[in-house]
Amino acid sequence: MRIDIITVVPDLLKSPFESSILKNSIEKGIVNIVIHNLRDYSTNKYKSVDDYQFGGGAGMVLMVEPIDKCISKLKSERNYDEIIYLSPDGEKLNQSTANKFSLLNNIILLCGHYKGIDQRVRDNIITKEVSIGDYVLSGGELAAAILCDSIIRLIPGVIGDETSALTDSFQDNLLSSPIYTRPRDYKGWKVPDVLISGNNNEIDKWRMEKAIEETKKKRPDLN
Ligand code: SAH
Repeated sequence: MRIDIITVVPDLLKSPFESSILKNSIEKGIVNIVIHNLRDYSTNKYKSVDDYQFGGGAGMVLMVEPIDKCISKLKSERNYDEIIYLSPDGEKLNQSTANKFSLLNNIILLCGHYKGIDQRVRDNIITKEVSIGDYVLSGGELAAAILCDSIIRLIPGVIGDETSALTDSFQDNLLSSPIYTRPRDYKGWKVPDVLISGNNNEIDKWRMEKAIEETKKKRPDLN
């Protein structure tokens, strides 16, 4: 999978891809992340990519032309399945969307900044708008990193034990069951007997019951 990310703050996107699972997925060649500095597509000598709003009002707006130039260049090189704008008023990201995106080959993520981007980009170039939640960030970069993480960990071969991602919260519209590791007894706080019984059927049954119980308790809206 190839993910092109367009940003005015490329530095913000360095560290999320330099550690752990995302780093490994890149090193294994499963994912290719390409960061583009929007300023490289500026059409003026000051390298600016934003301007004042028509009609007045606070906050600068990212201009249509540099964004169009950057995305047109990318589209001339390969086909893209989706061109996604990270936006607080987009479709809210959930596990089902992450699953769908993880099956795509090439996507572009456009990060807004300041007040946002010229509406004509959204009307004519963007194919999907994604929000990571009902709050406003300063820029789309952290949202893009979150979207990438949620997608990449689902691609086969990225997580060592592939079943691990499948048993995470939300995969079956259920939250995860409680998990434990050694020691069996810490200060009298004990691991449930069933988990050390060696009886896999009983363990599966317990996990399912607990997942249903946790979901009812914490997220009754999921059912
Ligand atoms: N004026 C806009 C907010 C702009 S915030 C509004 O009121 O809707 C600046 C940029 O941060 C946005 O262009 C977007 O790319 C990103 N952003 C902010 N909050 C976000 C969220 N919840 N999800 C995804 N992207 C977000």
